Amino acid sequence: MLTNLATRDVETLIHPYTQLAAFRETGPLVLERGQGVWVYDTEGKPYLEGMAGLWCTSLGYSNAELVEAAREQMMRLPFTHLFSGRSHDPAIELAERLKEIAPVPVSKIFFTSSGSEANDTQVKLVWYMNNALGRPQKKKIIARLRGYHGVTVASASLTGLPANHADFDLPIQNILHTSCPHHYRFGEAGESETDYSARLAAELEEMILREGPDTVAAFIAEPVMGAGGAIIPPENYFPAIQAVLDKYDVLLIADEVICGFGRLGTRFGSQRLGMRPDTISVAKAITSAYLPLGAVMIPEGMYQAMLEGSRKIGTFGHGFTYSGHPASCAVAIKTLEIYERDRIVEGVAAKAPRFEARFAGLRDHPLVGEARGLGLIGGLEIVADKATKRQFDPKLGIAAKVVSFAQAEGLIVRSLYGDRIAVCPPLIITEAEIDELFDRLTRALDRAE
Ligand code: PLP
Repeated sequence: MLTNLATRDVETLIHPYTQLAAFRETGPLVLERGQGVWVYDTEGKPYLEGMAGLWCTSLGYSNAELVEAAREQMMRLPFTHLFSGRSHDPAIELAERLKEIAPVPVSKIFFTSSGSEANDTQVKLVWYMNNALGRPQKKKIIARLRGYHGVTVASASLTGLPANHADFDLPIQNILHTSCPHHYRFGEAGESETDYSARLAAELEEMILREGPDTVAAFIAEPVMGAGGAIIPPENYFPAIQAVLDKYDVLLIADEVICGFGRLGTRFGSQRLGMRPDTISVAKAITSAYLPLGAVMIPEGMYQAMLEGSRKIGTFGHGFTYSGHPASCAVAIKTLEIYERDRIVEGVAAKAPRFEARFAGLRDHPLVGEARGLGLIGGLEIVADKATKRQFDPKLGIAAKVVSFAQAEGLIVRSLYGDRIAVCPPLIITEAEIDELFDRLTRALDRAE
């Protein structure tokens, strides 16, 4: 029986990423308020928010300091833009701060409103830069199967998931996909993680050679894959990939939209996984999701090329009305201040062993093929047969069932492509709340068995 609000929803809204036919029967979970790591529905039922919204509410709910930062900026100057010579102090201050904390040298910051826009901007900047440098053939960007980079036409093309391409006539030209670094699923029998990483690096090298190194401009990767399955690559995967990129002058774009700002127990995910990116996309936790904001961190070499291009072409013709919205920037400045003051990243590193151990504790569950966490993100792969890793018939929607049992248990987790379940709680979660989360998740798995 749908509640009144749920009925009105079904009659009026198209929801993103929703099985539209099934949704007509189930309707939405309508949330009304949040506090700490908890959210409450319209009936007042509490749920432990095990997904930090959509991998983003890092400081949890009802943080009065973030609300005040937005209020103060909205009262003072709710909007001005950054187009053609206009600026405002929160954008300048935030850009300075991002340059200070970046894991690699950064020359300039370009603001967007979302992760998709940040990655779309990356594609355009790489193309613009290579045109400016007089090498218009160096345009191909290699992404990975199961990678997730957003839904705009270019960022959805980078994304390596079937639902983002089928019937949307994507990917666009100059976007290629290489293998996903998921050892559990794609490693060969007896193949070590090191050998598997070397094999993927060799595959990437072959792809670059086949395409022609002078046509390949960049490689884009999330440190830990989020929406593609919360997939943690082997330790030596990125160093092996990095060596290939260096050899052929291919830029590394780190998509830190989920892993940036502490998720893996380091300020940036790149630092945890041995990536040395040339350019970085961030969003989500930059404002703890209190307001929309994304950013591209641009290195000096790319900036110089853009400067040159702009001298030739005239206006640098890219930007969004809400690029660096003043209220979003003010909230981001406050968010970064809280991360520092409350030692949030160190807190994640301290809590990670508990989180990772609770994941490891699920490995014996009959439905669980793989269970792995890193920092405060992790995933479960549901299988029908643990020995052969055989999956359930996708029509059974087993992961979606676990998620709905979890919801009944007062826990929000998310089912992902390939019968995986993601867990990604707010960074402020306590160890006792981590235990509560996994106790509820275990009960949900038991019910689905
Ligand atoms: N990149 C990554 C790694 C993401 O996880 C997401 C969203 O989940 C995006 C990009 C797209 O961000 P947005 O939904 O803000 O456009």
